[in-house]
Amino acid sequence: RTTTPWHYTDAATMAGQLPPRPRFSHKGTFGHALLLAGSRGKMGAAVLAAGACLRGGVGLLTAHIPACGYDIFQNSQPEAMCLSDAQPDHISELPNLKPYQAVAIGPGLGQHAASSSVLRQLLEAASQPREKTGPPLPLVLDADALNLLGQHRELLSLLPENAVLTPHPKEFERLTEPARDDYHRLELLRDFAQQHRCLVVLKGAYTCLATPGGELHFNSTGNPGMATGGSGDVLTGLLLALRADARLLPFEAVRLAVYAHGLAGDLAAHETGEAGLVAGDIVRHLGPALSRCS
Ligand code: AMP
Ligand code: MG
Repeated sequence: RTTTPWHYTDAATMAGQLPPRPRFSHKGTFGHALLLAGSRGKMGAAVLAAGACLRGGVGLLTAHIPACGYDIFQNSQPEAMCLSDAQPDHISELPNLKPYQAVAIGPGLGQHAASSSVLRQLLEAASQPREKTGPPLPLVLDADALNLLGQHRELLSLLPENAVLTPHPKEFERLTEPARDDYHRLELLRDFAQQHRCLVVLKGAYTCLATPGGELHFNSTGNPGMATGGSGDVLTGLLLALRADARLLPFEAVRLAVYAHGLAGDLAAHETGEAGLVAGDIVRHLGPALSRCS
């Protein structure tokens, strides 16, 4: 077994990590994010991710969603813009990526072949450098986007550097192989992030963030109340907001999102108790949680 540098992310680590919003800032300062999410029966995932992205401080958010979700989405997220796919029940088209500083795909996506093709097109577009020297388009992949990646592993070679993947252990297993034990899973995690030059967030108690350089960062915040549908969609939205903010380095943005998401869950549980916590409560506490990291 090789040695791996281990790190622990706590309040002292995160103090001062969120830069203040400059007095003369405007929407463009904080980036325009694109969210590809939702399918019939799973529009809540898109709504939760969008809410988290907005509370994460993004400048502008556009969501591309299946046509069946248009009214649902516009009614529940008036601050976001919305592009409706030609298909009623799932996403089948990739919008022009030019306007966006970051893209997230996956919450509530479903695993339709047409949505799989959208994922492929997105990865192909993102693996091309945007300007000759600039970094690749920041990507966040979650939920069914990860399940589709597991089914089409040839797509892994298209992941742009510093792409963010947010599997829970089952999703991670679909991307790799069944782990013999928890330690073996961490070894698989470290190797995967190094091999594919990406940032992998293995979710659960003490969520572990693996970096392309082979470091593992364990998160101190969060509680079992967050083991409830939609919690992960909230993390995806927050990650999208922080990856769209050009002031943060990729690793800094992801570590901050993971920490603040867990802290928001802790603040929410303080109000509702763990059993009573629902994912929307995490969204409502993201602002105060981020403030504690400023
Ligand atoms: P998902 O499974 O995609 O809905 O994601 C669940 C989210 O809730 C992840 O961010 C997990 O880290 C978090 N979570 C779930 N269970 C726990 C737990 N027992 N302790 C802390 N965080 C948790
Ligand atoms: Mg999930």
